[in-house]
Amino acid sequence: MPLHVSTHPLVAHKLAILRDKRTEPKKFRELVRELTWLLGYEAMADLATRPEPIETPLEPITAARLEPRVGLIPILRAGLGMVDAMLELIPTAEVWHIGLYRDERTLKPVEYYNKLPDAATVQVCLVLDPMLATGGSAAATIDLLKTWGAARIKQVSLIAAPEGVATLKAAHHDVDVHVAALDSHLNERGYIVPGLGDAGDRQFGTFAGPGSEPGHGPDDGTAEVVRRLQRDLEP
Ligand code: URA
Repeated sequence: MPLHVSTHPLVAHKLAILRDKRTEPKKFRELVRELTWLLGYEAMADLATRPEPIETPLEPITAARLEPRVGLIPILRAGLGMVDAMLELIPTAEVWHIGLYRDERTLKPVEYYNKLPDAATVQVCLVLDPMLATGGSAAATIDLLKTWGAARIKQVSLIAAPEGVATLKAAHHDVDVHVAALDSHLNERGYIVPGLGDAGDRQFGTFAGPGSEPGHGPDDGTAEVVRRLQRDLEP
């Protein structure tokens, strides 16, 4: 599974401001949008084009038009902040929502919202999630998209943890992953370290008490998932 970590200085610069705990939600949302633009541009660099004859004001030429239909699949809720930027890049993209949560008993993802039509309407799917943490939601979403019939799937995230990358590599070695940074590890609450905290809370300003702070909140089985992933990563 190819992992593409952007080396663009603009990406590094914007990511530094995004990570800073002093960055307010308004600025944070702007940066998510700008980083999604830059990563989306890189992630779509190999999309196929077809020749199309057009006439410029000066002469006829054979121009190139994008060939595949593209679908955007934001992982709820933090992935929503990446949708508009992608739609600016590719306004004809379809946006499909899939809702998953993790069952606290089985620790497996459970689908609670999925309105995908019977047959795939796009060839290329971009799964959008600012944080590729355990990789559980991404892997389950990609399972659904493959069953749906998507020919090509790419994951676009701002920051990845090695544990999440390993999950995707094991489950979907054919999926390209595009990120701005690969961080050190997950903590026992499933937060990427050093990361940027909770990407949903920081975008939407939902700092509703200690439960929403990184490292706090109820134990929903995340610690067990993280321990298992970290054991798998041991040499
Ligand atoms: N989701 C987040 O918002 N942040 C993390 O660090 C991990 C998952």
